[in-house]
Amino acid sequence: YEINQDKYKEYYEILSDAHEFFKNSIKNDEKALKYMEERGFLPKDIKKFEIGFSLNERDELFKYLIKKNFSEKKILELGLVKRNESGAVYDTFRNRVMFPIYNPQNKIVGFGGRIIEKETDLPKYLNSADSVVFKKGKELFGLKNRGEAIKRKGFAILMEGYLDVLTVKRYGFETAVASLGTAFTEEQASLLKRYTKNIIIAYDNDEAGKNAIIRAGYILKKFDFEIKCLKITENVKDPDEFLRKYGKKKFVETLKKSVDFYNFLFLEFTKNLNIEEITSKRILVKKFKPFFETFENELDKELYIQKLSHEIGIEEKYLRQEFESEKSYTKKDKSNNNYIKKNSFDSKVQY
Ligand code: ATP
Ligand code: MN
Ligand code: MN
Ligand code: MN
Repeated sequence: YEINQDKYKEYYEILSDAHEFFKNSIKNDEKALKYMEERGFLPKDIKKFEIGFSLNERDELFKYLIKKNFSEKKILELGLVKRNESGAVYDTFRNRVMFPIYNPQNKIVGFGGRIIEKETDLPKYLNSADSVVFKKGKELFGLKNRGEAIKRKGFAILMEGYLDVLTVKRYGFETAVASLGTAFTEEQASLLKRYTKNIIIAYDNDEAGKNAIIRAGYILKKFDFEIKCLKITENVKDPDEFLRKYGKKKFVETLKKSVDFYNFLFLEFTKNLNIEEITSKRILVKKFKPFFETFENELDKELYIQKLSHEIGIEEKYLRQEFESEKSYTKKDKSNNNYIKKNSFDSKVQY
């Protein structure tokens, strides 16, 4: 979708003003401030990260935006408000701390909102609905200032959640990004590639997180990223908890110890296998098939085939045969080259 500045001007103004409203609303809201403080965010952090709050009221945002003479139709289209069966309009986000989502042109295109109540049946997170200026699968959370920090530092850290990104940034790791409550997409990989080719995947420390690393890794590999995976061995759920429990120094150590995607897969795939056994070797080769089907770079592919061959004692030619039969992944269009080639991980990355 093309961004036509003039055509969408009013949508951006509505979103920016809604953001002002959310930011003003958190300033005097004791419950919201207390919630954020429990999560480690003092008023100065709330200001820095432009966090807001959607009041627990029926239509305060709607009234505020209408008073500013914005089109009701456009406010509805952005999903900031909804109309019920009887025709009354009400705010979509209520009683949530609000995180602004910036697009690569540094404009707010939507929000993520976390409920602050502890006991509730409402969904924990709510994202802006897709609109003419916002497609969830195309944007990343954490790209404020046009990804400038990622370019400067030479790598990005990909996480699952809004609060992972914000906490990690609060501790000084400015290059954190997250997909928006959905699985990581090729469009997001292509977006990231504008800023760096080095990525550390730092998903949640649970089964779902590990499976998501594998899926995101295959996508990133299609785009020829240098991929590392964070190994959290401590008993914490996610990077947010990790930093708050163990602090910055330990997080840097863990970042430095993050493993190459191949090694991550090898450890995962062999977890319950005894690779001395023939059956296990066969299972392992099958598990590795998707990895070897997504190479953009033939030299890398050969090097990894060699590595696997040595590790499990199967001749390279048999591995090659196995990996070349019945490809399940289609090769991406090679013309997509509008990205920056940067130093590789080992040389200039600053953790
Ligand atoms: P928190 O630390 O605030 O409890 P989290 O960021 O660790 O939350 P997870 O449950 O690990 O959240 O989920 C990761 C991400 O998935 C969230 O940041 C959010 O984008 C999305 N998500 C989680 N739960 C929901 C939900 N109920 N509805 C929509 N999106 C959700
Ligand atoms: Mn999770
Ligand atoms: Mn969390
Ligand atoms: Mn989490």
